[in-house]
Amino acid sequence: MKIRKLETFTNEFVGFVRLTAEDGSIGWGQLSTYNSDITAAVFHRQVAPWTLGRSVTDLKALVGEIAEREHKFSCSYLYRAMAGLDTAIWDLRGRLAQKPVTELIGGTPGRLRAYASSMRRDITPEDEVARFQRLRDAHGFDAFKFRIGSECGHDRDEWEGRTEAIVPAIRTALGPDISLLVDANSCYSPARAIEVGRMLEQNGVEHFEEPCPYWEMEQTREVTQALALDITGGEQDYDMQHWRRMVAMRAVDIIQPDILYLGGMARTLQVARMGEAAGLPCTPHAANLGLVTLFTMHLLRAIPNAGKYLEFSIEGPDYYPWQEGLFTENPYEVTDGMVTVTDRPGWGIEISPEWLAMSSYQQSELAA
Ligand SMILES: [Mg+2]
Repeated sequence: MKIRKLETFTNEFVGFVRLTAEDGSIGWGQLSTYNSDITAAVFHRQVAPWTLGRSVTDLKALVGEIAEREHKFSCSYLYRAMAGLDTAIWDLRGRLAQKPVTELIGGTPGRLRAYASSMRRDITPEDEVARFQRLRDAHGFDAFKFRIGSECGHDRDEWEGRTEAIVPAIRTALGPDISLLVDANSCYSPARAIEVGRMLEQNGVEHFEEPCPYWEMEQTREVTQALALDITGGEQDYDMQHWRRMVAMRAVDIIQPDILYLGGMARTLQVARMGEAAGLPCTPHAANLGLVTLFTMHLLRAIPNAGKYLEFSIEGPDYYPWQEGLFTENPYEVTDGMVTVTDRPGWGIEISPEWLAMSSYQQSELAA
């Protein structure tokens, strides 16, 4: 069945794709978040022309072909745009088969453990502790991730002593049975990362994300080899050669592809399988409650090397105002620390008509 029309509904922060096939059936997908208006321009200019008239069953070949046709523009934006196509095709396939996407990729609906993921560095250790305790009591979370160091920080902390204060403060307040994860967002040199890592190990932290500048894979590997806790990374990487290198050299213990940065579910499955073959768990990056978290839920219910938990952002309207009112129903209820992948067809959600009415609209359509 051929793809007849591709529509985007965007604002600066988030954008949805509606794909219409020749028989009128539709699927919804999402462009990656942030600068989604620019991503939509790339989508209509560089993705749609290669896509219109092609079959919806052709996804893997199509995604490969777009990358080749646009090989002079191999960059994050192209893959952020391709993700909108890929995820709309999966939704359409699910709606046609009357199955959730997870079933189409070998999984089953059901529950998943989520970890509460803080995005903030401007928060004091005391306030982060209080927030985690509230979330534990309200939703039953038993795993939490917080920020250490500063982003691409050249060994500098967000403010002096914050990292040394927040790690023991959270462990002491939440007790020994809670899983703790930290993210350094490319902050450290290997020597400093190893030093911080020893302190993390003493506090029972189990996941140390992006300790060194992510593009310096040899630096990351040095940290991985020196420490016992899991070093994790990969969220920025959209290029398969980087993934092959990262996995082959065992730069990290756990891989963290982002379905929307990487170009969609088909490419993420490729990366997950790469990890599986090397014995590496996959704990994807999903840093907001747009659709990336829902896509990741369907993925984690399907892959054999799924990591221990789903990343689940705890930031609300003060931090992510654009997340409000996207869907007709909330797919992100957390009870007992778990989310649920339903058996509804496709991704199992509808985009809010009110939100769509306020967005910027563009379309590409097959010539009659
Ligand atoms: Mg991260």
